[in-house]
Amino acid sequence: MSPAEWESVCDGCGKCCLISLQDEDTDEILLTDVHCKLFDGATALCSDYPNRKRHVPDCVILKPETVAELTWMPQTCAYRLLHEGKPLPEWHHLRSGSVQSIHEAGWSVQGATVSELTVGGEEALLKRITVWPGEPGWEG
Ligand code: SF4
Repeated sequence: MSPAEWESVCDGCGKCCLISLQDEDTDEILLTDVHCKLFDGATALCSDYPNRKRHVPDCVILKPETVAELTWMPQTCAYRLLHEGKPLPEWHHLRSGSVQSIHEAGWSVQGATVSELTVGGEEALLKRITVWPGEPGWEG
């Protein structure tokens, strides 16, 4: 897969740009509705994708050789689905032909998050745990 093809796999859901917490007892990953400071909540895209590592040193760059190790990735992540041999959903742009399909179908975090710059402390983060479509606990 070429670099451009690899990039095209991303569905633009934005869930990997959310702050997540890990349950101490179960190790379960709990997503919040709080996004990375570099994320643009209105578009559900990184505001400086080419330079994201410079702004956010612990941003994880997805690579074909490491995707198997990233067990915290959202259940609906297209890279995860491909790695697990599962089909891409019909709202994925490689199937629908439009990058807006995921937003129109309600499977992204577009317009539904707040910046980490506005949320202070772990207590506040705990109150923002959110069950997103397709993630554990979701009853869609
Ligand atoms: S979770 Fe996966 S598909 Fe969604 S934005 Fe992140 S890398 Fe792309």
